[in-house]
Amino acid sequence: MATITFLGAAQEVTGSCHMLEGPGTGRVLLDCGMHQGGDAVERIQDEQFPFDPASIDAVVLSHAHLDHSGLLPRLRHEGFSGPVICTRATAELLEIMLNDSVGLYLRDLERTNVRNARQGRPLLDPIYTMDDVEAVLKQCDGHRYRESVPLGESASVCFYDAGHILGSSIVEITLREHNEEKVLVFSGDLGKADSALMNEPTSLTRADLLLVESTYGDRDHRGEQDTVVQLRDILRETWQAGGNVMIPAFAVGRTQDLLFHLGCLHHDGELDNWQVFLDSPMAIAVTRVYDRWLKLLDGDDIRHLSDAHKSSLENFLPTLNLASGTDESMAINRIKSGAIIIAGSGMCTGGRIRHHFKQRIWDRRNTVIFTGYQAQGTLGRVIVDGAKNIKMFGEDYVVKARVETLGGLSAHAGQRELLAWVAGFQPPPRTLLVHGEASSQDAMADKLWKDQSLKVKIPARGDSIVF
Ligand SMILES: [Zn+2]
Repeated sequence: MATITFLGAAQEVTGSCHMLEGPGTGRVLLDCGMHQGGDAVERIQDEQFPFDPASIDAVVLSHAHLDHSGLLPRLRHEGFSGPVICTRATAELLEIMLNDSVGLYLRDLERTNVRNARQGRPLLDPIYTMDDVEAVLKQCDGHRYRESVPLGESASVCFYDAGHILGSSIVEITLREHNEEKVLVFSGDLGKADSALMNEPTSLTRADLLLVESTYGDRDHRGEQDTVVQLRDILRETWQAGGNVMIPAFAVGRTQDLLFHLGCLHHDGELDNWQVFLDSPMAIAVTRVYDRWLKLLDGDDIRHLSDAHKSSLENFLPTLNLASGTDESMAINRIKSGAIIIAGSGMCTGGRIRHHFKQRIWDRRNTVIFTGYQAQGTLGRVIVDGAKNIKMFGEDYVVKARVETLGGLSAHAGQRELLAWVAGFQPPPRTLLVHGEASSQDAMADKLWKDQSLKVKIPARGDSIVF
């Protein structure tokens, strides 16, 4: 017998964290993610673990995105000393993600404390530091896909390619008790079948209990090729208008997809004379990790590339400029037109994109292109929902730039793909939907019932089940 308690990404899309407890496994966290949206410092200061971190025996991490991994430094700070079991590429990406996230938090905290001091309010202590990042990275235990890794006294864990970002995995945990075997499958985040760089998510067939993500449980995406045509057209029109393009970048995955597609347009002679700027130290670092793994990536398009182009995305797109430092970032402000600026963060909750918005979002010649899901409560969502005015840095800005969303570049499976992936399990397992907003989960539950006669549960935060 084992118990699973849903602690995050339950009827929401961030803060992925589920606790598995049983005599065979010990206490294991599936993911240890951070909630996103709102004021970052406040959110981090307020986030509490509803358990004692020192009592956790291991973390099994599906992939490196912060909404799945971001609270690892805090877990460590509060006493967690066990292994973080993940794939090797996840461990590599995690180093970049956690250093960036904690660095950003500490800088924001410093700013908040300057303000608090001025207003005579008490100063906040950091709830974790860079030392915790260093320590928790040492606890990382990276493995290959399909390798069976012992977990606790009588269980094992195995990762399968989820095709979502580099290193992303579907987690399969096999529990053994009294000569009986039970299999828990946690989908992590599932990728799209037609992604340029990633493999298709692995189809599995056996599970007794299935936790499946439902981010896009209510809709399908455009195909990736249609999306590239859409991108080409938006770029052409913005070029003709004499504008610039701002792309809030998800540093891991979407940015590399985008660089790849821009490279393809360039080689096909379909890209005007744009200067492309990657204005995010983290996205630059992640792109270098992707470059190291590029030969092993196996998306439909990349297989056809020559070895020279496969060696690096930077070589593949010769008009690419990397802006690591703030000077290089600020120099982009002087460009009047013809710049494609890819800058973090993906949901505009922080990072350099807000500085570029400040320079350009009020000008109708410019275009903002969103490339992925915008969670409720983020500036990105406000803009996608059509706000005419936004507030940044304590000032009001009018939104006159054209706003577009490239749905087909999503790193997530759409409804049809999610349903097909679930249908692969025979006999149908007990199934629960996680990682989705309520409307999307309801639509997916409805479809699973109608198409597959599968009755699923949608756990709320704090719910437990025994299996
Ligand atoms: Zn993810």
